[in-house]
Amino acid sequence: MTRLVILGKQGAGKGTQCVLLAAHYDIPHISTGDMLRAAVAEGTALGLEAKAVMDAGNLVSDELILGIVRDRLSQPDAEKGFLLDGFPRTKTQAEGLLELLSPNSIDLAVDIRVPDDVVTVRMLERGRTDDTPEAIARRLELYRAETAPLLDFFEVKCHFTAVNGLGSESEVQDRIVAEIDGRE
Ligand code: ADP
Repeated sequence: MTRLVILGKQGAGKGTQCVLLAAHYDIPHISTGDMLRAAVAEGTALGLEAKAVMDAGNLVSDELILGIVRDRLSQPDAEKGFLLDGFPRTKTQAEGLLELLSPNSIDLAVDIRVPDDVVTVRMLERGRTDDTPEAIARRLELYRAETAPLLDFFEVKCHFTAVNGLGSESEVQDRIVAEIDGRE
């Protein structure tokens, strides 16, 4: 059971949990946000295209995202499994992912649940350049409109579970590991 999708709104702790889980299961952590930020830092064409969109809290195009995920999943290290973080975020991305993986699929999708007021404080404290109050509000709005409906999609299409994202990093990790190992 190593093809995992970690879901949850911005600031839910997906990135932190994925770093811990990638080490625990020895599988690559694939974060579309991290890949986009790396492209921005390198000043590639893709980075230049994505930067303004990211700073405003908007979503980069499905086509661009599916392209970078397709490339990343074709790397040899992804053969043993992977953790997807920040992807998929739209129905088109979710459908694209299942098509990409077919005939295999996702072993488990885990939704890390944290209320809006808590994630807003966490993001403001984190202080990334796109963590302005306006961009945070926009990201949460897009989460509700585009990403939250995917929970139903995953519930129907593959194994799905939700965990409480409140508590210490290790408490949350223990909850997720229990769900993953419990299904093996
Ligand atoms: P957060 O979850 O706090 O928004 P991420 O690092 O996941 O942080 O994403 C940062 C930004 O990168 C997003 O606001 C968006 O502009 C872009 N992005 C990341 N992943 C995706 C995706 N799957 N689809 C579209 N845009 C994305």
